[in-house]
Amino acid sequence: MKKSNKNMYLFFVALTFSASILTFNACSSDDDITPVVAEEDEEVVTDDSGNTATLHDAFAEFDVDNTDIALSGSNVVVQTNGWTSHTSPYWSNTTSRTATPPGGTPITTVSATNHPLWVEPTATTHQFMSPGNIDDYNGTFTLSVSSSPALAATSTATGLGPIGISITGVVIYNDQEGPNMPLNDMTIGSFDYTAAHTGPQSYHYHLEPKAWSDDDDELVGIIADGFFIYGRKCNSTGTYPTDLDASGGHTSTTQHTTTAEYHYHIQNELYLNAYYILFPGDYQGTPSNIN
Ligand SMILES: [Zn+2]
Ligand SMILES: [Zn+2]
Repeated sequence: MKKSNKNMYLFFVALTFSASILTFNACSSDDDITPVVAEEDEEVVTDDSGNTATLHDAFAEFDVDNTDIALSGSNVVVQTNGWTSHTSPYWSNTTSRTATPPGGTPITTVSATNHPLWVEPTATTHQFMSPGNIDDYNGTFTLSVSSSPALAATSTATGLGPIGISITGVVIYNDQEGPNMPLNDMTIGSFDYTAAHTGPQSYHYHLEPKAWSDDDDELVGIIADGFFIYGRKCNSTGTYPTDLDASGGHTSTTQHTTTAEYHYHIQNELYLNAYYILFPGDYQGTPSNIN
């Protein structure tokens, strides 16, 4: 991508997120608008047993256009349409492409018009893109997990399919493309500029999502065990953490809390000499299903 294009793009992302935060604030004071994020007076919930739950400040960064976040008892429920507000060559477009999913038959993808967020591929090409468009998916993904997650006695391996939900609304996958199929150069060749592609179910990220986190401490999303994941750097020190466990986790403050808490980072370790895996696992907490 040309530098000028990239700057334009980052500007667009910044605008989108600013607009999202404005919407979040506006919803809290306007009863005529159905809030897509819990209203201010719902950010603390007490259930029948007297347990109090608080919505973490980090949730204010989730895109209100694609995600819906609320407390339910002591759990937080994150629901997403699986879409995003950033550009991608994986939005529906008029360029015909034929691709064969792993172990499947060739699928031809073509649409009558270009989605407004569609852009020409840069990191990949039409020829190497996966079948399907972002907006072909018309379902939802829901994660219901403790709003104050705890480390588990034993870790749990991640599996195929969604293992987390990013702040954009797009789901997070691990470092596998299928059963016993670690990401390889061919699969990665289908990724757009932000390390995502479409799969059997929906568009998903596998690597550091450069649309908004590129060698920094940005919030990336929430993992299925309820812990947040940040970029390669930690806000507590401004640089790469040196005390990470095997999953890329540690306990420190972040830009969202003055109290030290456990969270993950994208590990600053190259995969295939060129890439940063978003979250290979294991879960250090207790994961809930995302479905
Ligand atoms: Zn994939
Ligand atoms: Zn950290």
